[in-house]
Amino acid sequence: MLLLDLDNFKTLNETRGHERGDALLLQVAKRLRDCLHEDDTVARQGGDEFVVVLEDLGDNPEEAAARSEEAGQKILSALRAPYEVDGEAHHSSLSMGISVFSGLRETVDELLQRTDLAMYQAKSAGRDTLRFYDPQMQAAVSARAAMELDMRAGLAQSQFELYYQPQIEHGRITGAEALLRWRHPSNGFISPAQFIPLAEESGLILPLGEWVLKSACERLALWAQQPGLAALSLAVNVSPRQFHQTGFVPQVLAALAGAGADGHRLKLELTEGLLLEDVEDTIEKMGQLRAYGLGFSLDDFGTGYSSLAYLKRLPLDQLKIDQGFVRDVLTDPNDAAIARTVVALATSLGLRVIAEGVETEAQREFLARNHCHAWQGYLLSPPVPVAEFEALVQRTNTAH
Ligand code: C2E
Ligand code: CA
Ligand code: CA
Repeated sequence: MLLLDLDNFKTLNETRGHERGDALLLQVAKRLRDCLHEDDTVARQGGDEFVVVLEDLGDNPEEAAARSEEAGQKILSALRAPYEVDGEAHHSSLSMGISVFSGLRETVDELLQRTDLAMYQAKSAGRDTLRFYDPQMQAAVSARAAMELDMRAGLAQSQFELYYQPQIEHGRITGAEALLRWRHPSNGFISPAQFIPLAEESGLILPLGEWVLKSACERLALWAQQPGLAALSLAVNVSPRQFHQTGFVPQVLAALAGAGADGHRLKLELTEGLLLEDVEDTIEKMGQLRAYGLGFSLDDFGTGYSSLAYLKRLPLDQLKIDQGFVRDVLTDPNDAAIARTVVALATSLGLRVIAEGVETEAQREFLARNHCHAWQGYLLSPPVPVAEFEALVQRTNTAH
């Protein structure tokens, strides 16, 4: 089974009108028929999608795959040649998914779904190409779908929790970064590095991110009533989709107001990619939140593609030196130079600077020698449950 989808057909339809779109589809159908034998089946599946079924491709799957690839390539090249639509030349290509089957072990719907998946692989491989369905691809997709369902359930069943990693300045704990943890009922702890990207893709990051903000604000409100903890700040990671949703600013303000927390204690960690996505909108939102005292830290600094011109325009408070540079600061002269440069850059832009991923006393000393006095990392503590964090604050800060 071959599933064909024209590349950029929508653009033609929208910019040059539906009649021209129809005219192209007719020509595509004709060329397609010319490529096939009498006993092959071809159908228009709807829109700009065609399905082809080839029969009797040999005795084994390998042979069938080879022969269908040959047929697929022939179609790709026949349909790639320029068209004449309404007296004007038009260029078109297509993306194709192929799945091989024998007998009727799968339902037609299953077959179509598989071929569709392969077609999407062809699209994401850059279009004008073909891809075969393979079962591993299916397994990966199913696993992701299952994790997404589990995440939804987990959110409803309070399986998520915040851990706190202390941030230290001149030897005192001045705050924490809140890091999300998922206690899965059957798979144990699942790392945010695994589920955050998926949550971002599926849109689940919106309810999840809202939950994180609410929980962080509630924590701040509780700390505000305890003498040793009242001055602590809390940094929350915000992902791009969450930040760019329309209601983000009111959502943050509602979380603060709902908990009765002080915005001056809340810091949002943003990434470079996020900031550059829609600079005007970003500046606007940051400005609105700043009016309530919120601070902004630029996470993973140095790993993205920040333009210094933008950096100057954004109302940031802090740069966070990425742990990748901190790790090799003593062994790799380039990383040492980058770390020093980030500190110098921050200083000249009037920003504070913090280093993450500090694991050894030697790394901490190097940073301090180079005027970076704020840090977080395993050297003091990994992210820990709240009770442990609070105990650590009492111990560390009363000693100073
Ligand atoms: P990140 O914001 O860069 O967080 C720092 C990561 O480094 C954390 O991993 C932390 O546990 C780890 N880490 C801290 N100190 C050290 C150290 O000394 N050495 C080493 N090797 N690692 C250290 P974690 O908790 O697994 O989080 C991974 C990423 O997941 C975070 O990277 C962040 O991008 C994302 N994330 C976590 N929580 C949230 C959240 O609530 N919302 C969003 N949007 N993203 C989150
Ligand atoms: Ca972070
Ligand atoms: Ca980071």
